[in-house]
Amino acid sequence: MTTPSRRALVKAAAALPALAAVSAAVAKAAEPGATRLILLGTLGGPSVGRPRYMTSSVMLHGGSAHVLDCGYGVTEQLVRAGVKLQDIRDIFITHHHPDHNIELGTLIYFAWYAGLTAPLNLYGPPPLRRITADYLKALKPDVDIWLDDIGHSPLGPVKVHEVSAAGPVMASGDMKVRSAIVNHPPVAPALGYRFDFPDRSIAFSGDTTPVESVARLAKGADVLVHEAMYMPAMKAELEDVANRQAGGSAIEADRDKLWAHLMRSHSPAEGVGRIAAEAGVKTLVLYHLVPITGVTDDQWKTAVRSGGFKGEIIVGQDLMVI
Ligand SMILES: [Zn+2]
Ligand SMILES: [Zn+2]
Repeated sequence: MTTPSRRALVKAAAALPALAAVSAAVAKAAEPGATRLILLGTLGGPSVGRPRYMTSSVMLHGGSAHVLDCGYGVTEQLVRAGVKLQDIRDIFITHHHPDHNIELGTLIYFAWYAGLTAPLNLYGPPPLRRITADYLKALKPDVDIWLDDIGHSPLGPVKVHEVSAAGPVMASGDMKVRSAIVNHPPVAPALGYRFDFPDRSIAFSGDTTPVESVARLAKGADVLVHEAMYMPAMKAELEDVANRQAGGSAIEADRDKLWAHLMRSHSPAEGVGRIAAEAGVKTLVLYHLVPITGVTDDQWKTAVRSGGFKGEIIVGQDLMVI
């Protein structure tokens, strides 16, 4: 059994009342042979103790799990979604912000602990090689203890592939991946990815302003997963200092800088609609949401529609199966 059963997925969805609506999607996604996309975490930014986890997603295809980004919570959410950690074959990182990479080392550790012995391939921008080496160095004492104490198998090879340009990233079996350079200053390069499987194609914006490179990357794809901000609620979110501090987020003195960062590095929902329309995708999924409170699904959708997108819009939730 290498992919989560329908029962496991339904159980995971039923465990969270807010996800009751997800059950229908779970049933569809559990069809044999179908490529499944599961949103593990849909929160934009590195705050903890919030109703959603930081950004991570997984695609399940042919008995293998392909993880995209490792925000805080990725390991827990994979297990909740019924994914076996030892089925992870590769991990793709869009860029080096903590809400996308902070749990990379922990996920590698628990995949090994769960029994992963196959090579694990990591893809992402520099300095992914150094980051991975440092994580593995930090994990070594824990790995060595279990090797001696309970006879666990050694950690299999972890192969790092640094990606600095747009173009083909990898091809394995019937899965192909390519990248785009997106606009997320001051982090550079920051990447978007497109995954082509025989039955569907899924593109991810990563963190970016609305850019043509994402429209080109996602051209004709079945699904575009794009980050999104809802501007009318942003000011209120930033003014709510108590809420931000409760989430371990930026302190009040950083408010103006945080606002400037969001403006020059992320995507208002209207711009997301424009890019999705240009790409001509069938389905647009919003993730990496800012803010995560005070906005209804209808408000998100209305903002996206004003950008010109006429296809299906899904406002992402943690553990949603698409
Ligand atoms: Zn982010
Ligand atoms: Zn970022």
